[in-house]
Amino acid sequence: MDKQKKLVILSGAGISAESGLKTFRGGDGLWEDHRIEDVASPEGWQRDRELVLRFYDERRKQVLQAQPNEAHRALAELESHFHVDIVTQNIDDLHERGGSSNILHLHGEIVKARGSLDESYVILLDQETIPLGMKCPKGSQMRPYIVWFGEAVPLLENAARLVIQADILVIVGTSLNVYPAAGLIDFAPEGCPIIAIDPNDIPLPQGVTHLKKKASEGIPLLARQLIEDHS
Ligand code: NAD
Repeated sequence: MDKQKKLVILSGAGISAESGLKTFRGGDGLWEDHRIEDVASPEGWQRDRELVLRFYDERRKQVLQAQPNEAHRALAELESHFHVDIVTQNIDDLHERGGSSNILHLHGEIVKARGSLDESYVILLDQETIPLGMKCPKGSQMRPYIVWFGEAVPLLENAARLVIQADILVIVGTSLNVYPAAGLIDFAPEGCPIIAIDPNDIPLPQGVTHLKKKASEGIPLLARQLIEDHS
């Protein structure tokens, strides 16, 4: 068994699709019937805070009702064989509830809230909603702890540092459309095998092996192969 090999997983909305959480770009560019710029940008927040808060309240309720699927669980099981780091664009907590230990959320976490003017004030919510009037100690309205389009991605460097150290890189359920997250693949060291699991065609650099399957099938399949190859 090769416990020292570092496995880095880049995951996106597709891994949670089979848990009932819709992906971003189901073809129409909308997220749950909303224009992305209305609900996932600082401008949208300035225009209509109520709409943005209600939108994420709904997403939070869906996430809390959703359950991790075979793909999340298979990634957690790989920890008995590899050092596994997950860099996810997902805002849900299904990797955590699926049992994985090392998870970096590039785009934030739906179960948390932050001050709109004080990004260092972050709390784990003990309720499903963020009401208007819920304020941080410095007096700013609390907002979802989500990185919106046009905002800096504070954990990007940490994520790149993980990818640079990868022995094997696995990409799952991301259309590789959202930057800078999509650029992380370029940090993989030379010679590092890269496997992408996605049932659809996605823009992949040369040399990446595409396992054209849904996550719940592809991840357990790959996990079995990796364990066999490295034990
Ligand atoms: P995306 O929606 O742009 O792409 C999803 C990808 O998943 C597509 O390539 C699609 O072919 C693939 N896919 C669909 N079903 C799949 C399955 N069963 N198994 C494997 N792959 C499948 O997602 P993205 O690249 O992650 O970018 C979306 C952005 O939206 C992220 O920034 C994320 O923060 C946010 N988002 C998050 C969630 C979530 O947390 N669950 C859901 C929707 C959107």
